[in-house]
Amino acid sequence: MVIPIIIKYISDKSFEKTIPLKVSSNQIKAVQSHYRQLLNVEFSAQESVAYLNTIIAHYIQIPRGEISLMLDNRISESQLLSIHFAVKALLQHKPLQYILGSTEFLDWEFELNEQVLIPRPETEELVQLIANQNYNLSSSSRILDIGTGSGCIAIALQKLTKAEVSAIDISSEALAIAKHNAQKLLSRVNFQQIDILDDSQWDNIPGDFDLIVSNPPYVQESEKKWMHKNVLEYEPALALFVSDKDPLIFYRMIAAFANCKLKKNGQLWFEINEFLSNQLIDLLKDNFSEIEIIKDYKDKNRFCRLRL
Ligand code: GLN
Repeated sequence: MVIPIIIKYISDKSFEKTIPLKVSSNQIKAVQSHYRQLLNVEFSAQESVAYLNTIIAHYIQIPRGEISLMLDNRISESQLLSIHFAVKALLQHKPLQYILGSTEFLDWEFELNEQVLIPRPETEELVQLIANQNYNLSSSSRILDIGTGSGCIAIALQKLTKAEVSAIDISSEALAIAKHNAQKLLSRVNFQQIDILDDSQWDNIPGDFDLIVSNPPYVQESEKKWMHKNVLEYEPALALFVSDKDPLIFYRMIAAFANCKLKKNGQLWFEINEFLSNQLIDLLKDNFSEIEIIKDYKDKNRFCRLRL
């Protein structure tokens, strides 16, 4: 027999707001309607339903599309508590991907936490562009990903091209997650802790890459005023921001690095700040034989492809 749980209020001193855990029963439909009302205060009706179904499906471990078939089923007390705290964190504007600890990137599920950036759809597009334009990449090709974060670019490219992939990051916490993701997704990537801005560390990376890719920090401090609280308060500033005085610092250093470490005819691919593409062309055009700016699905200048 399942005993319905009615816990009156759970208070958590770290949050100012308490939200009622006053679900009328532990049937999925009751849980859904209770938390939908709470989420509706902060989010649109459509967003609330989408968030809630993702959360419920995650904690009861079923595909999202099956929830509507299971509305009369009951969930356990611990599942209800997990859902409760997930809703509470969402109301504090914590990104859902950090609450659940994972996100999808192309065909794969990546684990993440607040030490790494949440992969964006633009970055999925970057990986697809590289794979689609480079059918010649094979197990004898060598790729390097600079500033790998969760490892999504490096791992997805390894899966799609079968190339030998290396990936570097300044953050040991990020590298721990990236290594974990590679292991879980059965992908072999060589990870190394390197600060790309410190050229004395470049000797530790072997050369002769066919392709180097990077999605470095590119948001200028002055752009913070347009950014949402969920990004500013939860995502790692180290992976996002550059000073307005030298916003292309990573591109300049990576281009210099690529000049020493790419094979002849090798390619360099970047994700870029949509507002800085002209400055970037001015900076890099003399050192490469080809330079192309590519728009993303929102029609913004988002990628740069260079050939040595
Ligand atoms: N695209 C990210 C954003 O909009 C920024 C990623 C980056 O700085 N590399 O927040």
